[in-house]
Amino acid sequence: MNSVEKKHILLITTGGTIASVPGGEGLEPRRSDVMERELNQLRTYYQISVQDLMCLDSSNIQPEEWVIIARAIFEARGTCDGIVVSHGTDTMAYTASMVTFMLENIDLPVVFTGSQLPLADFLSDGPDNLRTAFAMAASGAPGVFLAFDRKIMLGCRAVKVRASGFSAFESINSRYVGLVTAHGLELDRQMIHMPTGPARFRPEACRQVFLLKLAPGLDPGIFDTLVDQGYRGIVIEAFGLGGMHFLHKTPGRGIQGAIDRGVSVVVCSQCLYDSSNLTVYQVGQKLLNLGVIQGADMTTEAAFTKLMWALGQGLNPREVRALFQKSLAGEVTM
Ligand code: ASP
Repeated sequence: MNSVEKKHILLITTGGTIASVPGGEGLEPRRSDVMERELNQLRTYYQISVQDLMCLDSSNIQPEEWVIIARAIFEARGTCDGIVVSHGTDTMAYTASMVTFMLENIDLPVVFTGSQLPLADFLSDGPDNLRTAFAMAASGAPGVFLAFDRKIMLGCRAVKVRASGFSAFESINSRYVGLVTAHGLELDRQMIHMPTGPARFRPEACRQVFLLKLAPGLDPGIFDTLVDQGYRGIVIEAFGLGGMHFLHKTPGRGIQGAIDRGVSVVVCSQCLYDSSNLTVYQVGQKLLNLGVIQGADMTTEAAFTKLMWALGQGLNPREVRALFQKSLAGEVTM
């Protein structure tokens, strides 16, 4: 490959294990200089620019940082062929989901990646993950993706499923977008969502969204407390296909109160795989009758960020419900 043919890839760094070194209190994220050895190897194949955006453990990446990351990506469009975002693994699925919604009709590949062992470690999984991410960023396929362990998935379908294993992410209820095989990077073109209009940066997101994992015996009073505190959206991880107890203290009463006060309530499943479906059991039907929105086969990360984003766009509860009946970027199967 001669230099004229090299694709220009922008690496935006945000911290995480991949760029960490041991410090006095455990691993600490550093800037891209700790990635230099690997980047030099990649420069054989790609023209690389680096933007050190932030230097955080991803536990510290919150809605403020999502906007900064999405803006940096949006502003870099047109200056490069693709973008790789290095990011801690712990909250990468949240960031990748939210950035998907904030960057409507994104028209170049944006690929999140990280590692379980720092690049500085001789046995790190980082080099492999970076190479997969760069290959995807050079593919020309538009969208927000996550590359890990030689797999590419939609950012809005990714979930971290292992705390330390190298196969840390899975694509939930959605095929992989691509795999690295003996034939190289093989893409499933049907999984690429082509832009349907001009790219837009839509960063407004509502902070008043609460994620609640249902446990047997949950007290319905929690819903009044949340609404009193100003929450405008609640995502509930319910049981199995979407069930909830209606015996003894019934959360249904609290949910009804929240909905009557204008709160959008989305019900997903605690199960990672398959779709919730509130129509199957009586305990699910009762929830539906209260007016909850079905999360269907969305990941919790996608449902939570989509609800924040939908409310941030100023949608009313009826419009939020309609938005959840649409797939914006492949986050839900219709
Ligand atoms: N705690 C790290 C982070 O999320 C874990 C990792 O990157 O793998 O930043």
